[in-house]
Amino acid sequence: MPAPIRVVSDPRYLDHEGPDGHPERPERLVAVSRALEEFEGQVEHAPPREAEADEILRVHDRAHWDRVRQTAGTAVERLDPDTYACGDSFSVARLAAGGTVDLVRSVAEGRARTGIAAVRPPGHHAESDRAMGFCLFNNVAVAARALQADCGLDKLMIVDWDVHHGNGTQHSFEEDPSVLYLSTHQFPFYPGTGDFGEAGRGRGAGATVNVPMPAGCGDLDYLGVFERIVTPVARGFEPEMILVSCGFDPHRDDPLASMEVSQEGFAAMTVILRQLAEELCGARIAFVLEGGYSVLGLTEGTRALCGALSAEAPEVETETPELAEGSNLHWIVERAAAVHRGRFPEIGTR
Ligand SMILES: [Zn+2]
Repeated sequence: MPAPIRVVSDPRYLDHEGPDGHPERPERLVAVSRALEEFEGQVEHAPPREAEADEILRVHDRAHWDRVRQTAGTAVERLDPDTYACGDSFSVARLAAGGTVDLVRSVAEGRARTGIAAVRPPGHHAESDRAMGFCLFNNVAVAARALQADCGLDKLMIVDWDVHHGNGTQHSFEEDPSVLYLSTHQFPFYPGTGDFGEAGRGRGAGATVNVPMPAGCGDLDYLGVFERIVTPVARGFEPEMILVSCGFDPHRDDPLASMEVSQEGFAAMTVILRQLAEELCGARIAFVLEGGYSVLGLTEGTRALCGALSAEAPEVETETPELAEGSNLHWIVERAAAVHRGRFPEIGTR
């Protein structure tokens, strides 16, 4: 049996609690934890620590750090129309970032085979200078910068399959050729960014790959995108480690979004990324929880992830979907190829 999956989890992640009815609620992680219990013996739990200011400040500015710090010990307040902080949120957000940093470092340094950061609040909408979209600190961006600063890794790939575009992560790295950010997301949709033409800027031109997808896409569309876009981009970029912004809101039961991904779909996406990590970067891959607002979606997503990561040598059993003229997949692949074929000529093949 493969070595266990390291999981960062902690009951303190439930202490970030907002107004009644807010979708980013503690019950989300309760669902993830229950699903993790089904994999007893195949996961090892690691407690988180609070990230230090200098780790957060690699991504965020001092004014944003201070703004979140000032919420410590206060009543619930709004940092943007969607994003709350309670008296514990500063501490919990530091635990989310610190837990993610330690997890990715343990994988990078070979102390863990692979990992899942089962953390909240999520991170990928958080901009350098502000909280946004339920996110306080950008956990995956802070973790990527830690890998570069402390682990001697340079070229990193962040695959963001959350159903929303990770505007904060994109903006953190869009001028940096060393971190390739690839996002699949429903479009047009919150937060409005992430069209095909957003492809990096300056020295980072070409190292941002956006794959906006129309509402209603399901397992076969995602499988096609992962085989015909994500795979050739990863092979062309040759990352030293893959980080996955893993939201379970493309799930068909999610109340905020309109995609149709099932447990089998998330499993196939996980298998493809795991195989790419094994092929390209010594199997170094870690998954960081982002969104997902249905208990069923979070449960099935976590099951899919753990199943695909704990199997001996999992394969995708579904055949690669054809690029049928007029299909969503055909349109998506054509548009992505039009932007990126100079650097990644294999887009469209598999
Ligand atoms: Zn999301």
